[in-house]
Amino acid sequence: MLLNPLTLHVPKNALEAARLFKELEDVKVLAGGTFLLNSLKLLKTKGTKTAKNVLSLAKATDLKGASLNGGVLTIKAMTTITELFENPLLADNLAVLRTVCRNISTNPIRNMATVGGNLTCRYTWTEMGAVMIALDARMHFLAPDGKESAMPAEDFFKNAARAEQLFTHVTINHDPKSTVAYRRVRKTMHVDVPLLAVCAHTTLSGKQWANTRVAVNNGTAFAQRDYTLEKFLNTSRSTPDLGARALDHLTKDIYDTRSSEYKQHMFRVSLKSAIEEIAKG
Ligand SMILES: Cc1cc2nc3c(=O)[nH]c(=O)nc-3n(C[C@H](O)[C@H](O)[C@H](O)COP(=O)(O)OP(=O)(O)OC[C@H]3O[C@@H](n4cnc5c(N)ncnc54)[C@H](O)[C@@H]3O)c2cc1C
Repeated sequence: MLLNPLTLHVPKNALEAARLFKELEDVKVLAGGTFLLNSLKLLKTKGTKTAKNVLSLAKATDLKGASLNGGVLTIKAMTTITELFENPLLADNLAVLRTVCRNISTNPIRNMATVGGNLTCRYTWTEMGAVMIALDARMHFLAPDGKESAMPAEDFFKNAARAEQLFTHVTINHDPKSTVAYRRVRKTMHVDVPLLAVCAHTTLSGKQWANTRVAVNNGTAFAQRDYTLEKFLNTSRSTPDLGARALDHLTKDIYDTRSSEYKQHMFRVSLKSAIEEIAKG
């Protein structure tokens, strides 16, 4: 047997899933399965104990889909990376999500992996976190009594991406006036997981930057904002050398933490290039 014996629970909707998530002891959520199944197999091979209960969200169809209402994009947890990539609603500031989806692994993985899995799997290097923080997204959860709660994506990642309740969806404001640039650097030519990712989001008033959010993922810690850089950019105007000048205003700790010189260099290249893209208009 590839897996240790387990009980598979297949709730028919989000509320049933939220109840089981709370009630069951020693339970793991199964979304697309691209991380969980590998991890259950690996742990078994190592002789390590694995979860007794697996809660599959496959039949909870109310956890699937994306829609735009009143200027807010809702992406439900079980939407796959491919489904999000193909969604025609991704315009203006939301179009960056298409770029992110396109960069994630291969077609077979993108067809299975879900947005919910990417955001809540607690692997520090997955890429949607930085983008959701830069877009000021909110993450929504469902309690077993049916009560919904939400928190900014930034707070979720500050709390080490712990989903204490069932994650149901993420919401993002559609803002045709803001501009977003995204960069990621792959780890090696062969294994296409990101070494780092950066996402800059701002509102330009003429050439003046405002409401800027720069979120970075150094792959070691969870995605976070660079407030020092944001402060500098919010007092700046777009000029051809803005990207280069911005590099004197980084929060050093974010980039230096357990980073090689190469990674630090690539952060500078990526941030400069993302800022230049926005500054060029
Ligand atoms: C070979 C490979 C390459 C990859 N490359 C990239 C890459 O380049 N960039 C990138 O960003 N990602 C990458 N990924 C990650 C991928 O995008 C998926 O996000 C990730 O595999 C988990 O998604 P999943 O739906 O399969 O989750 P699963 O494996 O099913 O679940 C993982 C865990 O997420 C949590 N979870 C999932 N859904 C919920 C929920 N609704 N509520 C609460 N907790 C939940 C649970 O703890 C669960 O055990 C890669 C994955 C693989 C296997």
